[in-house]
Amino acid sequence: MESARDRYTREMVEGEDLWMLPQVDKYGYECGGCGIPVFPASYDQANLQRPHFKKQQNTPHKDGCNIDGDEKTVARGKKGSVRNELETSPDLSPSRLVLIDERPAVDPERKPSSEQTSTVRDTKRSDDEGLVRPKGRRAANSIRPICRAFIRFPFDRTMSLDVPGVEDKTYLQAFKKLGGKGVDLFSRARIFYAELAWAKPQEDGDFLVIPLSAGEWCDEKRWVKQYRVRVDRSKWSKHKRTKVSNELEVARLEGIDAKKTDSKLRPYVFFVAEQDSAEPEFFNISDHRLICAVVGTISYPDFKSGK
Ligand SMILES: [Zn+2]
Repeated sequence: MESARDRYTREMVEGEDLWMLPQVDKYGYECGGCGIPVFPASYDQANLQRPHFKKQQNTPHKDGCNIDGDEKTVARGKKGSVRNELETSPDLSPSRLVLIDERPAVDPERKPSSEQTSTVRDTKRSDDEGLVRPKGRRAANSIRPICRAFIRFPFDRTMSLDVPGVEDKTYLQAFKKLGGKGVDLFSRARIFYAELAWAKPQEDGDFLVIPLSAGEWCDEKRWVKQYRVRVDRSKWSKHKRTKVSNELEVARLEGIDAKKTDSKLRPYVFFVAEQDSAEPEFFNISDHRLICAVVGTISYPDFKSGK
């Protein structure tokens, strides 16, 4: 499983977020659909394998858990619209991005309590009714689940999406691919994306400069001008820095492997940013929740005719 619910804060946590924690609480997570315990795996910062969550083999998901159904929806979503399912699945296609204050320091001894609140907490618990499945689409706390939905559901990109700072309010319009025919000027912030270049990101003091496989190409040999994301990490903890570096490195290596094996998977970097006004090949960001690397295949069907 790519994500799970933090038992204490009640937030949905992405596997990659575990890279950021100084200590991972092995018993602190549960299935976002039914609440059975799930356990973090591959989360060590030195371990360049995508972190995820596993349930115990002999513990099935509870009746009514949407996790297995979600997988079927994802599979069908590649071939056609699954809008009805997405409208009622909390996690598959987030409706908005909500940046909440950085994860509060949580006392691990504290029991989950119904008084704890969170802006993204939609699941209601009731001792009488068991787990009430949330109706409707949930908010995401970082852009990663939103970018995954963009990749996974090409026929449903007209669904609404509210990302602070981005004027365009559908998946289709909010996302913008950076091309390879020169450096364009963009008048407003979008969720920009491009393939990650094979070259490693460069560390430059507090800055991390990530080269993208987009910009102005010359003689099919080299970039004359290459788009780059410049990440200001001056306010970041060591763990936050390692998390973002790991995420990029895992995607970069998976991307190189994919090319070698003729797979159609590509390593994409997504980021919400404004273009640098003086150096338009640069995009500046400083919030780690506004950048992510996702390996996938992006298709562009003619969504209106459903083809
Ligand atoms: Zn479950």
